[in-house]
Amino acid sequence: MPDTVDFAVVGGGFTGLAAAAWLRHLEPNKSVALFESSRIGAGSSGHTGGMTLADTAAGELPGLGDVLAGLSGILRELQVQCDLQLPGALEIGREEILPNSPISWSDSGTLGVTKEVPGGTIDPGKMLSGLAQAATKSGALIFENSPVESLTVAESPVLQVAGRPVRARCILIATNAESLELSSLAGLAQPKFTLAVATEPLSSDQISSLGLAPGKPFYTSDLPYLWGRVFHGNRIIFGSGLVHLGDWRELLTLNVTEGHAAELLSDLERRVRNLHPALQNVRLSHRWGGPILIADKWQPAFRRHAEHRDVIILGAYSGHGVALSVYLGAWAAESMLGKKQLPQWDDVQLVD
Ligand SMILES: Cc1cc2nc3c(=O)[nH]c(=O)nc-3n(C[C@H](O)[C@H](O)[C@H](O)COP(=O)(O)OP(=O)(O)OC[C@H]3O[C@@H](n4cnc5c(N)ncnc54)[C@H](O)[C@@H]3O)c2cc1C
Repeated sequence: MPDTVDFAVVGGGFTGLAAAAWLRHLEPNKSVALFESSRIGAGSSGHTGGMTLADTAAGELPGLGDVLAGLSGILRELQVQCDLQLPGALEIGREEILPNSPISWSDSGTLGVTKEVPGGTIDPGKMLSGLAQAATKSGALIFENSPVESLTVAESPVLQVAGRPVRARCILIATNAESLELSSLAGLAQPKFTLAVATEPLSSDQISSLGLAPGKPFYTSDLPYLWGRVFHGNRIIFGSGLVHLGDWRELLTLNVTEGHAAELLSDLERRVRNLHPALQNVRLSHRWGGPILIADKWQPAFRRHAEHRDVIILGAYSGHGVALSVYLGAWAAESMLGKKQLPQWDDVQLVD
């Protein structure tokens, strides 16, 4: 582990990996080190649904730009192959269903398509490993099992990593729902744990009778919330439910076979089986969950650390982070290099 680097990144999810890879892509002569407390993908990014959406959870934000075009360009430049497809995404709901809705499911009323929006899917495992490979191939150093314990600032910021000091000119903190004291988001954003299930492979007839043949992911615009997508080999992933936490550290020991998480998974399974006759006897092959961070006004946190100008905080995508994390991770890298300003979203007043 180096004592000093030009740029340090904390967190080995999509955000941190995209930033590390993009830093070296733009400045191959600057040293970059990424520290991950556990393993790459241990947080949200290794447990995600992989639906790529154009907007933030708060909708369009000033100066955000075209997230999906940006994501496509970054993946292309970094040569990350992750089955990115952008056929559109389906907003589904219980009211104002389109007359030609391909979906007609039963879930607290009839669920159907209300709107089609830009979007699509990626394979999250391929995007994680692709970004990690792009980062290491370009010369970024990635340290797994290297928790950052603290941040102090003397002349430049210093991280305490697994008991050793590492000095950096500029630091990105991309720890999402964890280490909220380090990211200074404690009390400003709420860590949650959300759940998902995957079906066994279904027949093509089953997939088309569900109205999912064109491969577009879906999510509800009203409650109760439900999202999902078709994944490899005609499995369908469905997700819903939030476990509320008093402290982010509860994420480290949360077990989906016990307590409230297990109850929410049972509810989700019951809902899935009742959606449509094609799902009545379906076997669910996987059940899991992962962290998300919900910030004030549902806007991503993308700002300088209140006490340290050379430290940037990025995360809290409120469950909309797959495309945003890569797009804003690259943006953070450009800001660290002095090539782009950070957005001013903290002052934005949202109109309902
Ligand atoms: C079940 C589920 C389904 C989802 N589905 C979708 C979806 O379909 N579409 C969508 O847009 N979004 C979805 N999301 C959200 C999306 O996955 C996340 O917003 C995104 O992955 C966040 O990436 P990240 O890199 O910011 O955070 P993470 O992937 O959580 O990475 C943070 C990393 O920081 C590490 N870390 C924490 N503390 C430290 C420390 N002190 N030192 C070093 N490392 C540390 C963690 O171990 C972790 O690896 C989903 C999330 C979940 C859980």
